[in-house]
Amino acid sequence: MDHRARDDARDDARAMSGAYDEVDLEDMEWRDDLKAYTYQCPCGDFFQITLEELRAGEDVAHCPSCSLVLLVIYDPEDLPALDEDGASA
Ligand SMILES: [Zn+2]
Repeated sequence: MDHRARDDARDDARAMSGAYDEVDLEDMEWRDDLKAYTYQCPCGDFFQITLEELRAGEDVAHCPSCSLVLLVIYDPEDLPALDEDGASA
């Protein structure tokens, strides 16, 4: 985790894992208007993953403007409770 992501290294990482990067959920920004956690994508848009997706066990945030994905590291027990829609589980 100590190597800086040059373009070449980024391509290698994408080839290996299929994901642009990994980021801790705590480092993502909650956007109340989107109801989603966001993270800056190199294309200028933002990776997005909703709380519902996280609670469903999803850990891949998608960018709506390109094909990159972001692997989200989180502890399911740390997720805030959904206070709308109710719990489906
Ligand atoms: Zn993007």
